[in-house]
Amino acid sequence: MGKFDNKIVLVTGGASGMGKRMTELLVEEGAYVIAADIKKELLDVVSQNDSVEGKLLNVMSEDDWKKAVEEIVADHGRIDVLINNAGISSEKHMDEVTIEDWDLMMRINGFGPFAGMKHVLPQMVKQQSGAIVNISSYTAMVGMGTNTYTASKGAVRAISRAASTQYGRFGIRVNAVFPGVIKTPMTENLSESSEVLQRLIQATPLQRLGEADDVARAVLFLASDDSSYITGAELVIDGGFSAQ
Ligand code: NAD
Repeated sequence: MGKFDNKIVLVTGGASGMGKRMTELLVEEGAYVIAADIKKELLDVVSQNDSVEGKLLNVMSEDDWKKAVEEIVADHGRIDVLINNAGISSEKHMDEVTIEDWDLMMRINGFGPFAGMKHVLPQMVKQQSGAIVNISSYTAMVGMGTNTYTASKGAVRAISRAASTQYGRFGIRVNAVFPGVIKTPMTENLSESSEVLQRLIQATPLQRLGEADDVARAVLFLASDDSSYITGAELVIDGGFSAQ
């Protein structure tokens, strides 16, 4: 028996990196996964598995969210788990950031998860059950990165906590995870031999970068009934970096 047997799970950014690994592990545990993304060619690959449905969804678009939720509920009758994982990053320093950079980052990384909760929560309230996991970043916990990315992930942290307090009475749990530097397509431009990464690895108690699998397993815990009394939690997955 799998931990997600008969569960309908929606994973945004499900076609790449951590979202892809979450999708694989969820399927192994019996879930039916709707992997939502903007990259059709990557969705075609993940949806080769019969238990994965690729769905084109731009998390910035309210129309896309509305349509996606309507379709999922019409097809499957429920949404048990929402994982707000889609996101973009930026290395720009504060003095280079334009208002357009700010708006785009906040729209995808901030409004995206907010809109996901806005459209999925009413269905979870009807069900009187549900689990939501939002992917923030360790940069929202420690004083790193004075840029739009850090700001957007701080927004994710705040809305996760707020939603957990407001929806617990409906049997809905909302938790957030805070990954450190994880090896995915998002970070592939950072060379592991570079000085910056070498310093980061040395400053990390577990002495390595994270893998998509490290984050995906923690997310599955928070999405599953194994964490049935956990809501509003903030789980840092960074090899101990921010503990110092
Ligand atoms: P990734 O680039 O491999 O995956 C991100 C996915 O999100 C991609 O498939 C992309 O197409 C999708 N996406 C981007 N914009 C979208 C949009 N508007 N609508 C729908 N889908 C969209 O990166 P990843 O490292 O797997 O990142 C997953 C999440 O983890 C992100 O929210 C990221 O900010 C966060 N994170 C990553 C790291 C890291 O070091 N990799 C660290 C902390 C947090």
